Order: sequence, then structure tokens, then C-alpha cells
Amino acid sequence: MKIQMVDLRSQYEKIKTEIDTAILEVIQSSAFIKGQKVNEFEIALATFLNVKHVISCGNGTDAIQIALMALGLKAGDEVIIPTFTYVATAEVVALLGLKPLLVDVNPDTFCIDICQIEAKISPNTKAIIPVHLFGQCANMEEILLIAKKYYLFVVEDAAQAIGAQYTFKNGSTAFAGCIGDIGTTSFFPSKNLGCFGDGGAIMTNSDELAEKIRMICNHGQKVQYYHDCVGVNSRLDTIQASILLAKLPHLNSYTAARQKAANYYNELLKDNGDIICPFIGNNSTHVFHQYTIKLTGKLGSNRNLLKEFLKERGIPTMVYYPLCVHQQRAYKNWYNETDNFSISNNLVNQVLSLPMHSNLLETQQKYIVDNILEF
Ligand SMILES: *Cc1c(COP(=O)(O)O)cnc(C)c1O
Repeated sequence: MKIQMVDLRSQYEKIKTEIDTAILEVIQSSAFIKGQKVNEFEIALATFLNVKHVISCGNGTDAIQIALMALGLKAGDEVIIPTFTYVATAEVVALLGLKPLLVDVNPDTFCIDICQIEAKISPNTKAIIPVHLFGQCANMEEILLIAKKYYLFVVEDAAQAIGAQYTFKNGSTAFAGCIGDIGTTSFFPSKNLGCFGDGGAIMTNSDELAEKIRMICNHGQKVQYYHDCVGVNSRLDTIQASILLAKLPHLNSYTAARQKAANYYNELLKDNGDIICPFIGNNSTHVFHQYTIKLTGKLGSNRNLLKEFLKERGIPTMVYYPLCVHQQRAYKNWYNETDNFSISNNLVNQVLSLPMHSNLLETQQKYIVDNILEF
């Protein structure tokens, strides 16, 4: 039994003809950059997400950087980010010379702890970047309230949560990445909607921001060779757009397959007191980019042994993430004496992500869990 963390091959095999045809069409048209399919995909994704504008770009990291540039943030402006996240969120803050304010996360959702945000805010704080980690939205209702109170921009990092739906107390709903001022996502192959290389997108309901974002993505120009602002070269190429156009109609079924697999893991693991299955809050759906368990008690102190044990039986697992931002060598100086990151500091030792993708078989899941329980 061949088990993979992410099985890109079988996902491709299922829609091979659609994908191959789409790629060939682009090659025949030879419009490799800014071809018709790029625009078509942006419109299709905007329709899917019920958001006014989608601007595609080169990758999910660029997407966050471009969002911050479009908001006009200047060197020295402070940006709030969670310390338990993928490095991209922190990296762009560093690259733009912004000042990061790291915040601990909620132990259940792994997303930024809304109770610890206000204490970090100063008159120089300009934005907050909630990360919808592992496929579930951060507490956007509270984040929007804090943002309103302190005049902060909200940039959602929805790289792991495309298709997750957030429900507000008044019953209104919105998709991850379409709630704050700007949202960003990634089409890295292993993401829930992945292309066959790098790709990303930026979402906004603001016409003004959309126009700025579009310019920044393309060297700060609206008219070719007339550069009105400093931009970057970050574009989704036409081949990737055509692949994404073919895959988008299947995203709901991919999400449903991930959710079904997550439910089956929950059921198989429910009787083990040392394993905490992913928490699902009642205001966001979970699209399970990762199925991440927390190990406690005796299991908790033996995570790496468990990982090895599973590996020997052909079961890959991953630790997302082995270090928080403030523990990384590159970002060590972001740590302040007064910071308390006890939750994140514990999580890096407790978490273990199990194989998760849209073609996971129940027999594979049973084998995975049997081996965890045997250990
Ligand atoms: C993958 C990811 C990114 C970056 O996406 P790339 O396309 O790889 O640049 C940013 N933030 C989070 C949380 C991610 O998981």
C-alpha cells in the first residue's frame, strides 16, 4: 500500500483529458503570459468565491507582499501576525521593512489568539494578517471589530483555506480571503486548489485596491512602459491558469473528499485520550488543507519516535511547523522579553499532520490509525 502525504498524481489521472486539452490549447495559442485563460480564471474564481475582484499573481508569498504594498504600508509600520504560521507571512513583512508584532495562537484552532491582539497595538500599528491555518478561518468577527476600533487593515492569508466558509453572528457568510480588506491565496501544487507549478491570487471587494494590486503585479504599470508606482513582476502564467480553470469546477468535490477523510480519521481516533483531533469551531467550515492532530501525555513526549515508527511502515507524516516564527534563526530578533508564546511553543512539539488529500482511501486511513494505535 503506497501512502502519500499528498497524492497529486491520482488527482490528475481523474481529469487527465480536461487538463491535457487545456495545456495543449495554451501551447497552440502561444499566449503564455497574460493569455485569455488568465482573465477567464480570475472571473471564474471571483464568481466561485462571491468576491468582486480576483487578481492572479506568481505565488502565495508574492500575494501577501503585493497586498501590503497596495495598502501603502511604509517601512516602520507595524503589522500583527501569528507566530505559529508558515514563514511566508513573516518573510514579506521583513522584506518590506515593516515591523512585525507577533501574537500567540489559539490552542484549538491554531489561528491567531484574538485575546492577545489588542495589547500589542500601538499608534504605529497599521495592519493585521490573520492566517487561516490548516484550512479553518481565524475568528474574523472579532478581528474585524478590533481592526475597526484601531483603524487597521486586514489582510487574510487564505493560502490553506480556499473554499472555507465563515458565518457571522448575524447569519451572513463569506469565503476565506474575501472578508478583510484584501485576501491572498496560493496555488502551490499541494494546496487545496493547486496548479502544476507556482501560482497565487489576491482577492478584494474594493475597486480602488484592485486597480492598485493589478498595477503592482505588473511592474507598476497600467499602460505598457508607463510606470506609475513601484511594482513587481508577479503573474500567473497562462498554462497554470488553464489548469486551474479545469480544476476549479472540482474544488467542491475535493473539499468534500477531504472533509470525509477527516471525519473518518476522527472516528478511528476517538477512543485514544492522548490524541486530540482537529477542533472545528462553529463559525467556520474546515477544508482540511492539513489534518493535524495534537499529541498529549505519553504520546506527546514521543512524537518523533511515533513519526519514525510510522515512516518504517510506509506512512509519511509531517510536522507543520517544527519552529514558530520567533524561534527561526532569521527572525529571532523579533522576540521581545515581554512576549508570551506558550501555546505556540508547545504546539511545535505536539502537532503531527497525517496524510490528507482528495484521494485518500479508507483502507489507507485504517492502516495509518492502526499503526498509530499499535505504537
Ligand atoms: C503556502 C503558503 C503560503 C505561500 O504560498 P506560496 O505559493 O508557496 O508562495 C503563504 N502562507 C501560508 C499559510 C501558506 O501555507
